[in-house]
Amino acid sequence: MRAARTDQLVKDSVRCGPIHGGWLRSARPCPSPHSDLRPRGVALDLIVLHAISLPEGHYGTGHPEALFQGTLDLNAHESFASLKGVRVSAHLLIDRQGALTQFVPFHRRAWHAGASSWRGRTGCNDFSLGIELEGDVQTPFTWAQYGRLAAVLRQLHSVYHIPREHLACHSAIAPKRKADPGPYFSFDVLAQAEASL
Ligand SMILES: [Zn+2]
Repeated sequence: MRAARTDQLVKDSVRCGPIHGGWLRSARPCPSPHSDLRPRGVALDLIVLHAISLPEGHYGTGHPEALFQGTLDLNAHESFASLKGVRVSAHLLIDRQGALTQFVPFHRRAWHAGASSWRGRTGCNDFSLGIELEGDVQTPFTWAQYGRLAAVLRQLHSVYHIPREHLACHSAIAPKRKADPGPYFSFDVLAQAEASL
């Protein structure tokens, strides 16, 4: 009886999967108005890694979440003046503690890459998912962030089958404009986190 019940639970979890309606079950949903439809027939083929903190180098402020939702108070810090009229988003944000927030469902296009090119294809937003790590280009990311990122990548792969090597830093797809996630992001540490899952 107990075995049968356990089998049913396993079946249920497989049937439901980690993603429902384009939303990760493990993420806090925080819907953003900054998204639109992907072009028809374009498959997800890339994951783009970013870093963000607002103000830069300050963590746990809630400002990146507000920016992605279009509710950032531009008067909250002098550096925010340059963000006037900026409408951006990402699919996911992983904070310094590894907590996960989702802003845009995966079947919709988030506005994270901007003018970009990957393996000869431009407009990376069309075919990519954007993951923001709370951080900046001068500070190492936390183990909790790597652990969460590894888990998320595994979940995304299980549903969307994006090849593992189709993972790029924003700086690699927009090298003249962007430096994030920066020199402290380590693919070696990410590989360690993936191995420890
Ligand atoms: Zn970026």
